[in-house]
Parts: sequence; C-alpha cells; structure tokens
Amino acid sequence: MRPAADTIAAVATPAGRGGIGVVRVSGPDLTELIAGILGTTPSARVATLATFRGSHGEPIDEGIALYFPAPSSYTGETVLELHGHGGGAVLALILNRCLDLGARIAEPGEFTRRAFLNGKLDLAQAEAVADLIEAATATAARAAVRSLSGAFSEEIRAAVDGLIELRSFTEATLDFPEEDVEFMRASNAAGKLAALCERLGSIVGRARQGSLLREGLDVVLIGQPNVGKSSLLNQLVGEDVAIVTPVPGTTRDAIRGRIEVGGIPLHVIDTAGLRPTVDAVEKIGIARTWAATERADLALVVTDAREPEHAEDAAIVGRLRTTLPRIVVRNKIDLAGIAARSSVDDGAREVWLSAKTGAGLDLLREAMLAAAGAQDDMEGTFLARERHLRALDAAARHLDIAAQHLATLPPPLELFAEELRLAQEGLATITGEFTADDLLGAIFSRFCIGK
Ligand code: GDP
Repeated sequence: MRPAADTIAAVATPAGRGGIGVVRVSGPDLTELIAGILGTTPSARVATLATFRGSHGEPIDEGIALYFPAPSSYTGETVLELHGHGGGAVLALILNRCLDLGARIAEPGEFTRRAFLNGKLDLAQAEAVADLIEAATATAARAAVRSLSGAFSEEIRAAVDGLIELRSFTEATLDFPEEDVEFMRASNAAGKLAALCERLGSIVGRARQGSLLREGLDVVLIGQPNVGKSSLLNQLVGEDVAIVTPVPGTTRDAIRGRIEVGGIPLHVIDTAGLRPTVDAVEKIGIARTWAATERADLALVVTDAREPEHAEDAAIVGRLRTTLPRIVVRNKIDLAGIAARSSVDDGAREVWLSAKTGAGLDLLREAMLAAAGAQDDMEGTFLARERHLRALDAAARHLDIAAQHLATLPPPLELFAEELRLAQEGLATITGEFTADDLLGAIFSRFCIGK
C-alpha cells in the first residue's frame, strides 16, 4: 500500500434533503478523528449506532458509524463512514467537525483515486465507478457494472499475457539469430499472433457497442418544411417538445429531445425545414440545420409519403456527407392510405410511417438501431470510453504491422518485437499500468465529490 499523507473527508450523498446523508473519511490514521467525533472506536465493519459530537462534546447528530480499518476498505486506507440525517445543515456540521479534527475536503474522485493508487481497482474499473453513477440507461448501468467487476480488465490482461508470451519467444530468438526463421516457425508465432488479433478484434467490437451505450447517438431530423419533422420528434419523445403548426418554417432553431432505444441514448435534433427562403431568420435556421447535420451520427430524412419522388428531397439527400448513415422516412402514410413498412435495399433504409397516428414508429426505432450498427443483444458489451477505443485501435494497428513483418522473409525480428512491445504498452494504459499523472488527473477530476 502507498500511504497518502493526509486525511480526506466529503459528503458522499447528493446535495438536498434525504432520509440519510453520508460523510466519508479516509486517511492513514483516523484514531484521533474517531476519538473526537465518536468517543470510542466502533468494531470493524459493524454498523454501530453512535452519537456524533461537536468540539464541546455536544451532540450534532445521531446515526450509524461504519469503521473500516486499512487495508480492508474502498480506498485501501482506514475509512470511516458516518451515516447521519440527510439535511444540508446537519451534514455540514458533521463534515466541519471532521475538518476541525484534521481532515481536508476531498477533491472530486479522490477516494477512488486512492483506491486505484492502493491497488484496490485498476484504472478501467475506477472509470467504471464514474460511468455507473452517470449511466443514463439500465443497459448502460449493467455494462458499467461488468467493467467495474473487472470483466473488461480481465480481457485486456489476457491479451497482454498473450503478447508477453509472444514477446518472450521473440526475444529468445533474437539471441540466436542464425536459427530465427526456424525458431519462429516452430513456436507458431504467426498462429499466436493471429489468435491475438482475433481476441483484440472481439474486444474492440464489444467496446464499440459499449461506447454507443455510453455516448449515445446524435440523430438529426431534416427535410422540407411541413413534412412532419416536429411531429415525429414529439412522437419519439412522447411529449410536446417541438411546436407543431401547419405553417411552414415554424421550427427555426434546433430543438432537442432525448429518447432511449434498445438501451442506447439517442439525442434527436429537430431542425429548420430546408427550403429556398429570403427570410433572414429562417436562413440562419437553415444554416444551423446543415451544421447540426455535420455533427450528427445518423440523419432521418423526413419526406411526405404522398410525394415519394420529390426533387427537393433528392437534393437534400444529395447534400449529406456520404459517410453519414441515414434513413428516409416516408411520413403521413395515414393521408396516403399506405400501410407502415420498412425496407433495406442495398444499404438504403426506408421507413413508411405516420407521425400523427404513431403507426410504423417501432419500425423506425429498429431501423435507427440497425443504421447505428447496434447489436440486438447488448449483454457482454463493455462501457468503454473513447480513451479505451483509441488504445485498442492503436494496439490493433501495431499487431497488423507486426504481422506484416512476420510475413517478410527473413522476418525483421527486432521490428516485429518492437511492434509487440508498443501494442502491449498501449493496452496497459487501459488498466493503468503505464499511465501518466496528468491523465489520472483528467480522469478523476470528472468524478463527483465524495466518490
Ligand atoms: P415540420 O415543419 O416538418 O416540423 O412539420 P410539422 O411536424 O410541424 O407538421 C406539419 C403539419 O403536418 C402539421 O399540421 C402536422 O399535424 C401534420 N402532420 C405531421 N405528420 C403527420 C402525419 O403523419 N399525418 C397527418 N395526417 N398529418 C401530419
């Protein structure tokens, strides 16, 4: 254990009133602090009813004290939790008493940072703590718990172990250069490398799904005025967030709604209808529509089902960046007398629906998930962060180059070994074995206080 020099304290429960509020304290030695506020030290890890006392021995609250002597605690240091009444004033009294007794206010994420530094959690698990607290959907929460329990870290470690094994073969071969080709063949280096690439590919796939769960998708609704964009947003969100009127050009600024489909948070943005206009305000709205489209992950091009061949619609689709996944929505099927349906033709998705009656909305939700590349089953995904995806991608690139070296005759084994080393180092940043202090600062500063 790496003892931290000072004692930290924070209110660990959210601001506001509640049945219970918790003040958490962690430090190398809490003997004096405990004597000052509780009088006697509670039994280790036993919920103990206690009076919390001020500097003159006066009671400031009555509640449960939990005492975790080091190293069997969240942080690995000695931890005291005081469960008092959940009011701002009383919690401030308890916290201030701890500060008077030598603690200082904890920085955001400092408890978890100490847990990481003391080897209680690796970095991916520590990040999962924050992700679990912030999870916006039940599926995201389940994925965060999987990472917190170490499932993601274990997969990374298994890949690192595979790399270490391959590196040790290679290093041994480098010592006997005249036998290198034969040695590498006998040790099945190419087979091992291929297995590693496959393992990494599977982790990347699941991490990408997890990243969808964590970040969600920006979905933009675009189309001509009056085709039903605002109505569709309202149907999707289930409440009136956008103003719906029969007057074209009503939506002049982007309106957002948040929905959840298949556990993935979707941020749906309604935009100004696209049409030639001389109105200065409407022009700004249209410019913003295109700007929103630039940043979007998916476009819903809304059209009127009664005019499927409209030239303006074709022009709008033609202006989308080619890489932007899109779904053409044929709206107002109730007026056109057409049944709801959806189709995929050569990657082009179309959904026929009515934003007014809601017919076909389920088909649209399914199509949105499919267009975003989401799997039906999110179990087994890891709630990966952008940082993890970058590290995984970099490792995969190094393994690709390593494979090319190995296929060369004779293989440049020094270069091969170097690529393996770089891949290993990249993967190790995920679990925090090779991590710079400033990265740790950036990660933990985004935690809430008291965690
Ligand atoms: P936007 O300008 O594209 O946002 O279109 P709105 O959502 O404001 O809708 C324009 C008009 O079309 C409103 O009068 C809506 O009630 C109507 N509307 C939208 N969708 C449908 C639909 O599916 N069926 C019918 N019958 N009317 C619709």
